[in-house]
Amino acid sequence: MSAHLLEVRGLTKVYRVRGRREPLRAVDGVSLYVDAGETLGLVGESGCGKSTLGRAILRLDAPTAGEVYFDGKRVDADSIHALRRGMQMVFQNPFTALDPRMTIGGSIAEGLEIHRIGKNRAARRARVAELMEMAGLDAGLASRYPHELSGGQRQRAGIARALAVEPRFLICDEPVSALDVSAQAQILNTLLDLQERLGLACLFIAHDLAAVRQVSHRIAVMYLGRIVESGPADDIVHAPRHPYTRALLDAAPVADPQAAKARARRAPEGEAAFAPEGFAGCPFCPRCRFATEQCARERPTLCGAEGGRLVACHHPL
Ligand code: ADP
Ligand code: MG
Repeated sequence: MSAHLLEVRGLTKVYRVRGRREPLRAVDGVSLYVDAGETLGLVGESGCGKSTLGRAILRLDAPTAGEVYFDGKRVDADSIHALRRGMQMVFQNPFTALDPRMTIGGSIAEGLEIHRIGKNRAARRARVAELMEMAGLDAGLASRYPHELSGGQRQRAGIARALAVEPRFLICDEPVSALDVSAQAQILNTLLDLQERLGLACLFIAHDLAAVRQVSHRIAVMYLGRIVESGPADDIVHAPRHPYTRALLDAAPVADPQAAKARARRAPEGEAAFAPEGFAGCPFCPRCRFATEQCARERPTLCGAEGGRLVACHHPL
């Protein structure tokens, strides 16, 4: 049982990769929750396991271990079909959800047909127009094909398709990462509007903290398959406690070139690399300015701090 709309406990996804002796723990014992109407931002560098986590939650890929509860019910291979209407995904690349040979209206209507929503074709067509309007898309574009739309319009079509089955929870996996800055801002505004109008809960995934902080109530920071810090969005941004979160903030683009220069010097050096299987220390240790001998020896667990925050660090800031 779970009192949260979505609860994830110890979720793990291990890949066996050819040419690599050790299994890759792309998601390693992640626990998190999302309440109704709430947006949890999930942020971390490319390759840290964000998409794998999102896909495992929705069982687009079966997790290796761990549990997912949605609306108090255990999500497993059997129950997922009944629960899928409540949980939908918006992909980074809208072509993942939109069939290039189908009109935009047809793609959006597909979800309605699969779940037998709408009395007849006319009712479904009216609902498609309504969904397009909700996603900020001119309903006149229903007869167009995906390649005839701009990147931003295509992503709006992807959002409309996800909304078709009236989900209560949406996983948005880097929905704006492929778009230019102005299209990004507009789509983030649309997502904020949908949160309010529909009371939609959301797991918003991005590698860029700037996008995440705009739409999230809480933020979870992921590093190499694990959550290293989480808490209320404002607190994470204004007073990060994990050195990796600090580094992500320092790496975020700033308008003032002078400030950008000062910050660049503080950004972490090197690249994230999954540690060898036997390594027992903190995964961030090789890149951390504050690392001590203890950090190389002993992995910090995610511990509660004041103000609803969790941090996995021996020497939190
Ligand atoms: P992110 O979304 O944070 O960029 P991913 O979840 O896509 O990260 O990937 C996490 C890690 O898992 C990466 O090292 C990636 O190469 C690996 N990975 C992802 N999908 C697969 C797969 N199907 N098979 C093997 N390795 C994978
Ligand atoms: Mg990804």
